[in-house]
Amino acid sequence: VAPVDWAAVRSDFPLLGRTVRGGRPLVYLDSAATSQKPNVVLEAEVDFYEQRNAAVHRGAHQLAEEATDAFESARAAVARFVGAGEDEIVWTSGATAAINLVAYAFSNASLGRGGAAAERFALRPGDEIVVTEAEHHANLVPWQELCARTGAVLRWFGVGDDGRVDLSDAASVVGERTRIVAFGHASNVTGAIAPVAALVAAARAVGAYTVMDACQSVPHLPVDLRALGVDFAAFSGHKMLGPTGVGALYGRRELLEAMPPFLTGGSMVEVVTMETTTYAPPPQRFEAGTQMVAQAVGMGVAAQWLDELGMPAVVAHEQALAAELLRIAEIPGVRVIGPLEAADRLAVVSFVVDGVHAHDVGQVLDDHGVAVRVGHHCAQPLHRRFGVAATARASASVYTTIDEVVAFREALAGVRAFFGAE
Ligand code: PMP
Repeated sequence: VAPVDWAAVRSDFPLLGRTVRGGRPLVYLDSAATSQKPNVVLEAEVDFYEQRNAAVHRGAHQLAEEATDAFESARAAVARFVGAGEDEIVWTSGATAAINLVAYAFSNASLGRGGAAAERFALRPGDEIVVTEAEHHANLVPWQELCARTGAVLRWFGVGDDGRVDLSDAASVVGERTRIVAFGHASNVTGAIAPVAALVAAARAVGAYTVMDACQSVPHLPVDLRALGVDFAAFSGHKMLGPTGVGALYGRRELLEAMPPFLTGGSMVEVVTMETTTYAPPPQRFEAGTQMVAQAVGMGVAAQWLDELGMPAVVAHEQALAAELLRIAEIPGVRVIGPLEAADRLAVVSFVVDGVHAHDVGQVLDDHGVAVRVGHHCAQPLHRRFGVAATARASASVYTTIDEVVAFREALAGVRAFFGAE
């Protein structure tokens, strides 16, 4: 791994230069919620609107051609970044939309939509969908809803005391009726990386489809979706240094080809009569309506920027940050929820402070200019598993420095005294 000038990397993010709370330097430790954006991403969006803005895939004019090129090149950049084929990447508004797209495609197939090719996706009462107790609500609620629409039954893997998915009862959780196994690649609460190979193997053994929520992993790990062998994956632009309002669904090509659409309307059709419609091949079949072109272009640039930085270097940098973050466990009264070693996890650390509510922890840190997130982080079942209603969470990204983590630790060390909880 070639050495990286991390100070130069950081100086590429204009927002990080600002101050908060009366002149304090901003210590942004909320990257798991959303990341900041490098200049190249901001400039790509402005450039698109200043030079290329047009509707894609339809105009007969030069601008439309240039906009289409930019849009499709961005798709190619994102595909390359995650080890997918260009026609295996569907633009969505984010990971939530991508997971819902899959869930609704399965339920449309269950209604007989999509013809014989789509029968493989049809769920019947008593079929099973498997998730984990660690899921973000975005990878849980759509499956609950799919169960409600089809009569399928939701089952799940529990989480061990170390915050990792517990596969010890795999044989009783995944079985002959399992049709879908949906799991997060990395937890947005504990930072734990899921045992992907074991989950994929368990699903394959019974012919179930895998859906991986890669929202937290794609910005922080080298992710090769084909090598991982998942059937579908979802991720968001805004967590990987790109814009909001854009994300992607990865689907293995032969699956996307057989899958019925979710949203319908313009741009996703071949022939429309007053009675019936035939649909375009993927990915267009799943991209109804005017697309988020400028955002997609920004996401493509973000993927390329990360690719050039090099994901192995990002991993090394963020493991050092994770080790520094985890030292908060040495502060009396601080309990970390999740694995305590920096290996095999991300620099996302959730914690509770004895005798102090997470929201108060967040407020004191904010007074020091330290931005963390507090609450259940859209993972209520996981918080229930650990017997807490809320945690505070510090999360890093490529631009985070060790000095910032030290400033966070020092501010956190004073929290209990501040509330008289010592
Ligand atoms: N899954 C995980 C693990 C996440 O962290 C998030 C965002 N907090 C999502 C899904 C949903 O992503 P989005 O809100 O961008 O659709």
